[in-house]
Amino acid sequence: MLHGGNEKNRFSHIWATDIPLATKGVVFPQTTEQVSEVLKLFNAHQEEVVIHGGLTNLVGGTQTTSNQWVLSLEKMNKIEEVDKKAKTITAQAGVILEQLIQTASQNDLFLPLNFGAKGSAQIGGVVSTNAGGMRVFKYGMTRSLVLGLEVVLPTGTIISSLKKIIKDNSGYDLKQFFIGAEGTLGIITKVCLRLYERPTSRYAALAGVHTFQQVISLLRLMNKSLSGNLSSFELMWKSTYCAATNANTELNPPLPHDYPFYVFIESLGNDLSKDFSQFESGLTEAAEKGLLLDAVMANSKREVKMLWSIREDTQILRKPFVATQHFDISLPIGVMDAEVSSITGTLEALPFVERVLPFGHIADGNIHLVVGKKDDSPEYSEKINAIVYRNLKKHLGSVSAEHGIGLQKKDYLHTSKTSQEIALMKTLKTTFDPKNILNPNRIF
Ligand SMILES: Cc1cc2nc3c(=O)[nH]c(=O)nc-3n(C[C@H](O)[C@H](O)[C@H](O)COP(=O)(O)OP(=O)(O)OC[C@H]3O[C@@H](n4cnc5c(N)ncnc54)[C@H](O)[C@@H]3O)c2cc1C
Repeated sequence: MLHGGNEKNRFSHIWATDIPLATKGVVFPQTTEQVSEVLKLFNAHQEEVVIHGGLTNLVGGTQTTSNQWVLSLEKMNKIEEVDKKAKTITAQAGVILEQLIQTASQNDLFLPLNFGAKGSAQIGGVVSTNAGGMRVFKYGMTRSLVLGLEVVLPTGTIISSLKKIIKDNSGYDLKQFFIGAEGTLGIITKVCLRLYERPTSRYAALAGVHTFQQVISLLRLMNKSLSGNLSSFELMWKSTYCAATNANTELNPPLPHDYPFYVFIESLGNDLSKDFSQFESGLTEAAEKGLLLDAVMANSKREVKMLWSIREDTQILRKPFVATQHFDISLPIGVMDAEVSSITGTLEALPFVERVLPFGHIADGNIHLVVGKKDDSPEYSEKINAIVYRNLKKHLGSVSAEHGIGLQKKDYLHTSKTSQEIALMKTLKTTFDPKNILNPNRIF
């Protein structure tokens, strides 16, 4: 345990390492039984505790106050089993996502989760936030990869169901309560994930596109022509592509800064000879139909990595600004262009906003916005929130496509859930955590 001043070397987010952690103390359990004992104690004494995973969430989910304890999963970091027959991997919650990806690969299997924070995020945090990322279009969100979970309830009860089976209709699927619950209902201690056959081919391209309608048509064309191999289709608006690849960043632009939209396309397959020609002919057909203005294909592993680093390294986008605000809204694809233009135009007219940088998982209807500001005052943040979220309800969108609600989006939960849904969520919280000790005040 860390306390008595030693906890001050720790922090609550990987982007705020200069701000000492406010807490009564940090505990580092090494086993599920220890998590259970600690929670029994905290529950008996009604002590509040905040769970720390890899600290990469973007909604203030791991922030603390000095009267709260922190429980870190970092010492529960063992991969327990790779089952090649069942195609599963079972690990403790504190294992870093990238380690799981590599271990799966070393066993000739594939864990499709992929997003910019994979080198720091822990699998417990990833499951708790039901993280998405760049391969949701083909493989679904984290939820679709979770076969089994072990969880400790706030009262200390251990609920263990580390099943490796895909089909199980024996009553309620209890694991679903904890996936995406942001640590409000229990502490995830172990996870069993479904793996896929490791793809033998990976091709990637960047395309410059003239209109948003052409982006949608390109998505449909590539999806059809790659017959199941399309694994990512990510979009950057021109402003964002320029910000990521200008002279001040270390990333070289593979295409000139001339086009309104830039699409990152990835194909994963298992037939080396056929997959390449399919990918190439898809792009050729798109060019012939006038759906793209220019395109560049990555021709080696190194080039694929370089291409994707432009899309993945969103930290570069924050650097030029005094302060930033991050959004991850969901919208139906048909209204996305008009909404993004309207939000960007309105925000950039405000004197305290410098730039709005839109990009996202376009095939999933998920747009990220990085809003660069001259000032981090709460009053300005609120004004920006009100503009970004103003039409979500009307379009049946979501205030959070993948990052969750945490502390920062609580006031806007009503844009995405009815009052009846919120009431039921609160009833569940009270049932699982009657004394409200675990990750209190998150979500609502
Ligand atoms: C550069 C960058 C890119 C990102 N890209 C994406 C993206 O594309 N898609 C996406 O979905 N997210 C993305 N994120 C957000 C973030 O990486 C995910 O939310 C991630 O899943 C959080 O994992 P973590 O281990 O860091 O959790 P933390 O940040 O430590 O915690 C997240 C929440 O889960 C709780 N928690 C943590 N561990 C547990 C546990 N074992 N049991 C119960 N509750 C727990 C915490 O209390 C907190 O409420 C990105 C973040 C960054 C910094």
